[in-house]
Amino acid sequence: MKLVLLDRDGVINRDCLRSVKSKEEFCLLPRAAAAIKLLNEASVPIAVVTNQACVGRGDLSEEGLEEIHAYMKDLLKEEGAFVDHIFVCTSADPAHPCRKPNPGLLLEALKMFNVTYSDVVIIGDDLRDLEAGKAAECHRILVQTGKGSDIVAKGLPERLLPVGIFEDLFEAVTHLTQVSL
Ligand SMILES: [Mg+2]
Repeated sequence: MKLVLLDRDGVINRDCLRSVKSKEEFCLLPRAAAAIKLLNEASVPIAVVTNQACVGRGDLSEEGLEEIHAYMKDLLKEEGAFVDHIFVCTSADPAHPCRKPNPGLLLEALKMFNVTYSDVVIIGDDLRDLEAGKAAECHRILVQTGKGSDIVAKGLPERLLPVGIFEDLFEAVTHLTQVSL
């Protein structure tokens, strides 16, 4: 893999019922920073690809979102980890090309990192992450944190397969570093 794309809520941090709107609500999931550090040590670029429609709806300002992301970077840094870039879609319009399940944000990441889809994996906790990954023809992993365990319990739509299923980001990354990095 030449690029790992990470959904944010439910993968890196605890999912909030109505989105994270302050840094007080931002809480790293166990082992998430350790997982990101493993990728850093393997020199694999990491980009976060996140829908934050709360900004488009006016529930959170752009500055507020930046503050949350600065806080996330600080928390990661404390554990010796970092992400290379954060791509955000703030639109609340489901038809927006960058809003997952649409693949626009992923395609932007592929372009910026100059990699081809077959060298990219997206790791998410929701069907829309997998849908976006499928549309961009990237490899797909579902983690069972956040919404992931419910999704697995309901069964994955056949059209999205193959999908790697792991307990959490750490387990997913451990697998990736063993098989393909
Ligand atoms: Mg999510």
